[in-house]
Amino acid sequence: MYHWPAVVVATPAHSGVGDLLSYRSGAALAAGTLVRVPLGAREVLGIVWRCDDAPPEGLAPGQARDVAQVLDALPPLDAGWRELVAFAARYYQRGLGEVALAALPPPLRDLTPEQLARRLKRPAKAAAAEIAPDHERALSPEQAGALAAIDGATAPVLLFGTTGSGKTEVYLQACAHALASETTAQVLVLVPEINLTPQLEERFRARFATVHGHDAVVSLHSGMTPPQRLAAWIAAHTGRARIVLGTRLAVFASLPGLRLIVVDEEHDPSYKSQDGARYSARDLAIYRARVAGARVVLGSATPSLESWHASEQGRYRRLDMPSRIGGGALPRLRLVDMNHQPKGALIAPPLLAAMAERVARGEQCLVLINRRGYAPVLACHACGWKSGCPHCSAYRVFHKLDRTLRCHHCGFTQRVPRACPDCGNLDIEPIGRGTEQVEEQLAGLLAEARRPDGGPARVARMDADTTKAKGSLEAQLAALHAGEVDVLVGTQMIAKGHDFRRITLVAAINADASLFASDHRAPERLFALLLQAAGRAGRDAAHSAASELWVQTWHPEHKLFAHLRAHDHPGFAKAELADRQAAAMPPFAHQALLRADARTQEAAQGFLKAASRAAQALPQREAVTLYPAVPLTIQRVANVERAQLLVESDSRAALQRFLTAWQPLLLQARSAPEARGLIRYAVDVDPLSV
Ligand code: ADP
Ligand code: ZN
Ligand code: ZN
Repeated sequence: MYHWPAVVVATPAHSGVGDLLSYRSGAALAAGTLVRVPLGAREVLGIVWRCDDAPPEGLAPGQARDVAQVLDALPPLDAGWRELVAFAARYYQRGLGEVALAALPPPLRDLTPEQLARRLKRPAKAAAAEIAPDHERALSPEQAGALAAIDGATAPVLLFGTTGSGKTEVYLQACAHALASETTAQVLVLVPEINLTPQLEERFRARFATVHGHDAVVSLHSGMTPPQRLAAWIAAHTGRARIVLGTRLAVFASLPGLRLIVVDEEHDPSYKSQDGARYSARDLAIYRARVAGARVVLGSATPSLESWHASEQGRYRRLDMPSRIGGGALPRLRLVDMNHQPKGALIAPPLLAAMAERVARGEQCLVLINRRGYAPVLACHACGWKSGCPHCSAYRVFHKLDRTLRCHHCGFTQRVPRACPDCGNLDIEPIGRGTEQVEEQLAGLLAEARRPDGGPARVARMDADTTKAKGSLEAQLAALHAGEVDVLVGTQMIAKGHDFRRITLVAAINADASLFASDHRAPERLFALLLQAAGRAGRDAAHSAASELWVQTWHPEHKLFAHLRAHDHPGFAKAELADRQAAAMPPFAHQALLRADARTQEAAQGFLKAASRAAQALPQREAVTLYPAVPLTIQRVANVERAQLLVESDSRAALQRFLTAWQPLLLQARSAPEARGLIRYAVDVDPLSV
């Protein structure tokens, strides 16, 4: 008597192989069981999706292959998890096998049942160094109100709490309540950046170790080694871990006892995956919570317009925490009109004076600039040569410290030429500025500034280059907290999440590019970045009255600044949403992109045109608008030409129906003559930028 499990294996996207493959098994296998099955000449990991009593139609008795091994030491993946990955695959137009298997920790793919069983018996790692327990704080009235509302919420909650309003304490206590509700309860806490997980993990561990044990909290993110990820995944799957903290990939963790999901800084673009299945972990969190019957809290001081709109419509319940803990004021906006400053000034004199003043008082400054390196371009004025990348349609960035020209898109790096490669002119010059240059110049400009102890101002830099080495980020943050730095120059990485106590001045020195960008989300991003950055200042109520956000701009009259001055996110959101509605943009329209990579731009666009032509015959075509194929802004990266085609609809469901019907036609369009040279294509549903 045989059983016939339908098994999901990792088939590459667009391979044409179905999602479910039938195998034969001597024993009935529960849905969600992990198995190893033959696939071609290999043996691969698979997930039993269902198990039939009769062989599938059309399968001759001798054809079926047997399940090779059953990983029965692991409990099956539960129905909620399976529904989540099935939904993600469907919604983001990917293969079920691709999404489901990618959601498992990589080492699981290679373990035999015996190895896995041994791994499961291995005792949990001995508790790490003792940490001082962290006790619950008495909540402010706003925090208490929010917590009570979360406890009683039936819809997703949007926790709109200003920077420094104490959102973390609300998350911690909401987690405590969720965990106390059942002995098997689990919570998932998502954060946008790996950088933020160690701090949060420490905080959660300190809070929950005494009650729930030291190994009750685990992290899950892409910076962990494969064995670490496997251990954390197993802890979550078996229920030993009660709290999982992680970046976007953690939304797929197996959590059989899930009661609560927290998505911190929900507006952050890093929740959207930019390769493979282009999922939004924030949006999947909402779906997952509904399937699991868990609560979900999205928290931010600057909610995304999507979430804000949902709260205006009543689909999400919005909770406001407008006050800072300790009653500190939010920093005052100081706009510097660059039209009235000395020509070519990197830092306007009044801003420089304000910084020197902070240094003299022993306070700290943050200076934000959105580019790393010394200058974005190196150029020869004699012949017009520029430091273009030979492999990309982009300039290579001049890094002065190691004398290199580096392409930030493909990584191509060369030493800086001594003279212009085209004309031999010795006088080649940087154009524009990046973090290295700002750091260098500020050190010079502040040479006269003195700290209270009489010492010179200490200027430091923090960006992806200075934090590459393991532990360097932590070391730099620690130095800042310890007051060993007076002025910190950095990219947006310094604007996020950190609880700095002695910063009273934050400056954005070239924010203008985003004001007039073609991307309709640019103003939203800039507004969030500036408010978040401002939120790093004046967190110590004693200093908050003097805290300031300085912005250098050529367009001080821009309406964004009026809302920024008033720290008025609701006003900004209202105005932006009105613009979006008038322009029929998301969240009032729904979008998807078909992207193509090819050897030539003609082939990339040729594929898109063939796909577009094929779509005309679909009945679902009526409900969507198909735009012409266009090259991407950065058209070529690493010698690959890129193009895209936008699909739009008023209705999310209609867009979904169209995309699903379109998939098989895309497979055919791949072999259209004008698509010769196509490398790959992908659909991006709800793209972040178009
Ligand atoms: P947010 O994440 O909303 O920006 P934080 O959670 O970082 O704010 O809280 C700001 C500061 O206030 C932190 O230093 C935190 O420890 C402190 N804090 C939060 N809640 C309380 C409370 N109820 N009583 C005292 N201090 C608190
Ligand atoms: Zn030249
Ligand atoms: Zn390049």
